[in-house]
Amino acid sequence: VAAIEARGLTKQYDNGRGCRDVTIQVGKGEAFGFLGPNGAGKSTFVKMLVGLITPTSGTANLLGEPIGTLASKRLIGYLPELYRYQEWLSGEEVVRLHAKLCGVDRSVARHRIPQLLEEVGIGRRGSDRVKHYSKGMQQRLGLACALVGDPPIVFLDEPSSALDPIGRREVRRILERLKAQGKTIFLNSHLLEDVEALCDRMALLNNGQILRHGQVSEVLQTR
Ligand code: ADP
Ligand code: ADP
Repeated sequence: VAAIEARGLTKQYDNGRGCRDVTIQVGKGEAFGFLGPNGAGKSTFVKMLVGLITPTSGTANLLGEPIGTLASKRLIGYLPELYRYQEWLSGEEVVRLHAKLCGVDRSVARHRIPQLLEEVGIGRRGSDRVKHYSKGMQQRLGLACALVGDPPIVFLDEPSSALDPIGRREVRRILERLKAQGKTIFLNSHLLEDVEALCDRMALLNNGQILRHGQVSEVLQTR
């Protein structure tokens, strides 16, 4: 069974925008890139897969579980494009809160959270309030939140677009490690270099529709 399988997935907003008839398959452990300019429909597609918005038509499964169901939601980590943190909490508290929401066992969380904060490079700053974090740190905190439930599938919506080159490189390094751990990664990006660096296969999206998809090298060759 595929990690992600979408068939004719469509969301049409009232204004006619959205994303149309998207059919893709992502294998377990694969890193898949969804590349397209702003407004192409990347966020809309991912929001359907994580269960935030309901498709107008089409179907999709995550590891065989239909999207929108609790069973499918338990399989995913999600880093939204613009995440607002509880600024008055410390980074560690934010992750702990997420762990609770994901139903992570207390003793597991106690062990996993410091390790995770270390892995995303927050480590010693974990007890500082989020208010004092840089954009890059906030984004890496978001990654820690997305990963705290140890989900097999991770959806990342433009994880490094708002970051400077250094922040971008840090995020990329973390994603490479995730991939090595065998996670299935779905990466929304308008940055070709990010998709090229991480992904095995990709789809090129424009105006809500897939123009091409396949191996990254193939898709880019015929561009
Ligand atoms: P991307 O993530 O590729 O930037 P989006 O999925 O955010 O693209 O948006 C796709 C299109 O749908 C854009 O034209 C956007 O303006 C429109 N759109 C997104 N959300 C809504 C909404 N809630 N209502 C109406 N139109 C929307
Ligand atoms: P994203 O790229 O993450 O979708 P956007 O900037 O497109 O972010 O959208 C920010 C918010 O505004 C989202 O909740 C989106 O659904 C909504 N939105 C985007 N475009 C439109 C639109 N044309 N009409 C109404 N709501 C929109």
